[in-house]
Amino acid sequence: MLHFLSRLSDIATSLKWDSREMDFEEVYDAQTRERLQREFSRLKDVAYLDHTGATLYPEGLVEAISSDLRINLYGNPHALNSSSRLSSDVVEQTRERVLSFFGTSSLKYDVIFTSGATQALAIVANCFSWRDGQAYAYFAESHTSVVGVRQVAAQRGAKIIPITQEKIESIFNENSPIGAVGGLFAFPGQCNFSGAKYPLEWVEKIRQRGDWSVLLDAASLAATSRLDLSSISPDFVCISFYKIFGLPTGLGALLVRLGAEERLEKNYFGGGTVLMALASGKLRHESRPVLHERFEDGTINFLDIVQLGQAFKYFANLIPGGMSSVEEHTFQLARYLFLSLRDLKHFNDKPLAVIYQDNNFKSKTQQGPIVNFNLKRANETFIGFSEVLHLCNLFNVHVRTGCFCNPGACQRHLKMTVDELEQQFEAGHVCGDAIDLLGGRPTGSVRASVGYCSTKEDMDALVGLVKKCFLETTPSKDRSDLRLENLETNASKEPRLSRLFLYPVKSCGAQEVQSWPLDHKGLVGDRGWMVATDASTPLTQKTCPRMCLIKPTLDLENNVLHLSFPGMSDVSISILNDRSSNDSSSSKICGVVVQMVDCGDQVAEWLSLALEISGLRLLQQWSDDLRKQKKGNANLSLSNQSQFLLVGLSSLASLEKQVAESAAEDECCEGENLLQRFRCNMIVTGWPAFEEKMLRVIKIGGVLLKSDGPCTRCQMVCIDQRKGDKTVEPLRTIAAAGQGKMQFGIYYSQFRSMRDNQNIFVGSPVKKIEVD
Ligand SMILES: *Cc1c(COP(=O)(O)O)cnc(C)c1O
Repeated sequence: MLHFLSRLSDIATSLKWDSREMDFEEVYDAQTRERLQREFSRLKDVAYLDHTGATLYPEGLVEAISSDLRINLYGNPHALNSSSRLSSDVVEQTRERVLSFFGTSSLKYDVIFTSGATQALAIVANCFSWRDGQAYAYFAESHTSVVGVRQVAAQRGAKIIPITQEKIESIFNENSPIGAVGGLFAFPGQCNFSGAKYPLEWVEKIRQRGDWSVLLDAASLAATSRLDLSSISPDFVCISFYKIFGLPTGLGALLVRLGAEERLEKNYFGGGTVLMALASGKLRHESRPVLHERFEDGTINFLDIVQLGQAFKYFANLIPGGMSSVEEHTFQLARYLFLSLRDLKHFNDKPLAVIYQDNNFKSKTQQGPIVNFNLKRANETFIGFSEVLHLCNLFNVHVRTGCFCNPGACQRHLKMTVDELEQQFEAGHVCGDAIDLLGGRPTGSVRASVGYCSTKEDMDALVGLVKKCFLETTPSKDRSDLRLENLETNASKEPRLSRLFLYPVKSCGAQEVQSWPLDHKGLVGDRGWMVATDASTPLTQKTCPRMCLIKPTLDLENNVLHLSFPGMSDVSISILNDRSSNDSSSSKICGVVVQMVDCGDQVAEWLSLALEISGLRLLQQWSDDLRKQKKGNANLSLSNQSQFLLVGLSSLASLEKQVAESAAEDECCEGENLLQRFRCNMIVTGWPAFEEKMLRVIKIGGVLLKSDGPCTRCQMVCIDQRKGDKTVEPLRTIAAAGQGKMQFGIYYSQFRSMRDNQNIFVGSPVKKIEVD
């Protein structure tokens, strides 16, 4: 295993390519670079690119901290003995260091130590006193921890004003949504999704609009940029220190501008925050007058503050130029990464990466060191972020995937509507899971973030692996020619819906979709139409195999059905929804009367011409027709037995193998050819062959399905759906394997009919539901 891994890392380091030297300027001098290399010997061949998640601590700092902790005796700072004295001295010095690091002092700000930026935000949320009619206004593309403040604000009766990207320019206008009401205004210094920086001059501009207190979320910005509180003075600033120094985790701060605390009302009092408190008799307590003493409930994290003090000292000597240098260095690297990824093009000139950014990395005042992207194949379909993550892990490149706790930025950059987000949630997708594509669209992305200790080699490692694994330099083998076995082997190991088909016209070709709405009969429009030889008898492939060459495309948005046939021009008909203007007729399908309507002469003639049978008609089933299953209770379209036919890809792969072993060469059918013959609606990957036979109830995304039993196959599976030719396989093998029982695939119908327009998505998890 070790040998295997080290070979992979060899590959990773040998992925040197014609990197674009001209797009990169070294900011650190040679001595600093050497020093950093020594400080991070533990990285070996890893390219760590999740600095926005947590940056890395230098090894020398760990030694400095460990000797400090070994030598000194630190007691609880609330006591008065000498060891306690030492702790409180260090804590107070560190408080000053925090302030001077941000260009200010205790004359202007106070530092409340917290467990992190999130706790700092929660303090403001819980203690801010909104005056009557005031608002909580926040940038929609903020961290979840900023968005969450609104829950408290709403409870206190404040108006909630989310500010979306489109509204940004207008917030300083006369009639802007943040008028004179005032209240609390929150925005991030830097977006933790895209790295976009917001102008800090806004702090003052917002104040000029009224009685606003400004909350600056500097957690991401302060990690790699100099934040100077001598030129701006937000009322509240929140910070997490591990994002700046890599340690200590569990320590952050709320910086409060002196005077701004008047808007903070604290109710709870914990140990260390009072001058006196009566336990009973009288409900009296007196809070401590010093701001941070009132807000730091209980024993503060004094040993972590000792570590923080060491970190300030250590970093002061680590990088000449300090945070300004870090800002320039990280920006140069990120810009280089951005340009390198942007320039990768497939053989057909389609770009490999879609990069989520707003300013083309023009300057470090507008952009921080984050490159957020998804990859696309040459055929322009998205590659799921889980697939990218797997290969990154294999090549020792550490990136972050998902939505990064920034739902607003994720929504805008990935172009999702609120409805779609809700649908994805109903379909089983939650924050932080591995469902990367739903309905062919990404649910998240890949984020590479750069830190003070990153190098150009780290960027090259990512670009090199992306190029090696995903760049298509020649037209690749069509997935439809791959053996099913290979497809299943490469699929995700969790059961997922991998493909979705409908057949709008009974017995005609398939329409493959990535997501589709459901109604009480199943997939909307599936077998909604039929070709009839007279007013009522359906024509099928059994007597007319070339029907499979008619390709229907149902366009629900424009309410039309298009039909195509090789060598003929397409025909389109509108979908009939209004009964009144049309004569309906009824027809018998499998012995049951069905309400139908004729679709007119034009399409009728087209069908007769295509199929070379005179007198054909196209009939549409009325959407409110209540045809039911013979056995069972589900409503049915014009399909024979059930709403959905489901097959496991493993079952198909197993059949493919059996056919290959026993069939004559000219009878062999495999890959897409075999798959298409079964005319199923759903293909599931990630479970063993024939698992679907055992399952009575399953849930695909948010859709609950019950089994209607196995599908008994007929000669239809012997028709090559791509040509209309007949073969004896795979029916011969299916019959032989089942000792005459010709079953393959399982019928399912909905447990309850779905609320209208619920969608089913390719990529949804498939869960087995236990029933007694
Ligand atoms: C990381 C981050 C937070 C939350 O920080 P925690 O350390 O998890 O409390 C908030 N806002 C932004 C912009 C961040 O990057």
